[in-house]
Amino acid sequence: MFQPEFEQMKRADLRALQIERLKTTLDRIATHNSFYAEKLNKLTSRDIRTLEDLEKFPLMTKDDLRIGYPFKYSCATHSDFMRIHMTSGTTGTPIINPFTRNDIEQWATIMARCYVAAGVTSKDVVQITPSFGLFNGGFGFHYGAEKLGAMIVPFGTGRSMLQIKFLKDFKVNCLTAISSYPLRLMEVAEKEKFDFHDLELRVGIFGAEVWSDEIRKRIEDKMEIETFDIIGMTETGGVGLGIDCKEHNGIHIWEDEYLVEIINPHTAKVLEDSKEGEMVVTTLNREGLPLIRYRTGDITSIVSRELCACGRTSLRINRLKGRTDDMLKIKGVNFYPLQLESILMKKASIGNHYQIVLEKKQGRDIIRVMIETQEEVSSSLSSDISTEIYDMLGFHVDKLDFLPEGTIPRVPGKAVRVVDKRN
Ligand SMILES: [Zn+2]
Repeated sequence: MFQPEFEQMKRADLRALQIERLKTTLDRIATHNSFYAEKLNKLTSRDIRTLEDLEKFPLMTKDDLRIGYPFKYSCATHSDFMRIHMTSGTTGTPIINPFTRNDIEQWATIMARCYVAAGVTSKDVVQITPSFGLFNGGFGFHYGAEKLGAMIVPFGTGRSMLQIKFLKDFKVNCLTAISSYPLRLMEVAEKEKFDFHDLELRVGIFGAEVWSDEIRKRIEDKMEIETFDIIGMTETGGVGLGIDCKEHNGIHIWEDEYLVEIINPHTAKVLEDSKEGEMVVTTLNREGLPLIRYRTGDITSIVSRELCACGRTSLRINRLKGRTDDMLKIKGVNFYPLQLESILMKKASIGNHYQIVLEKKQGRDIIRVMIETQEEVSSSLSSDISTEIYDMLGFHVDKLDFLPEGTIPRVPGKAVRVVDKRN
């Protein structure tokens, strides 16, 4: 562990630390930002006696932060800002998170913890493939690896052929990426007759978009690596909010740094453990943009608050299922694209790329799924998939389009899994 004093902290001590840091965070807001303090319904650190008191505080939304562009919620003076990061949302006003020196240090530290949880050491070589820029991924992976003392190949996005060449030439042990990017590397490798077997690659740390267990298995098999699912977002201070450990039994949240609640997204009530809902995050150690009960939109549930076999005491959540706004409603049925992905990726002859296209014809929802395949598809496969989708999700797909590999456009950054033409 990178910081066993925190990662192994006993629950009672952890709770005490959380209360202390929560109060400090609320005091920071009260001192630095009267607009933000006002938004908390006149509640202050004096209203916190137990952690459960947090539930009295109002929830914050993405829209609050958008309206607050650029610095309306920030709790440090301009001269203390070292850098900004920005949400990757393609529409509307972006959300800005200004980082102070302490914020960058906090980020580096939790990222170093993440690397260690994934079995990366200071002797390893880490290749960073997310972009270095307003998107937080590149820098987060960079600072953590630097903190750990690993050698860094700060590649950034694109140039996939050179990426795989570098994996080999620099004896890279750990690859970091947006979770659909390894699929792109696998595709390029295939074309170039490049064999992952020749590499010293051992670990993949992937995140920033939901990826099914089935896709994960494909990546692990092909690249011959162990993968780790990392979470975090610009608003919470970037990638590194949590990661799964070698037990792969849920994602550890760094609870001395972040308080996590799961709420019913409709009623906003806090749910009991194991119930699925929306993750709400309160930051405990951030200065530039401290968050009090921020609705992340991510759908998950708490797996356990018990000691993990890895020795860490922090609570574990399930891998993210999707975002509240990713949920698709088709023919009166709600589902997440991830559920469809799981069905498709169980079939060996189906490639790694697919796209769901939604249209409206004469007032009726039409759902078409474009699926890349490695070989000619039998009619039984097509009907198997249709049946399975109906059985698992409860609607009939209007059309399954089987396409040769490489047909669906590859885009830089996050993969486009859904095209909704209904509006
Ligand atoms: Zn663990």
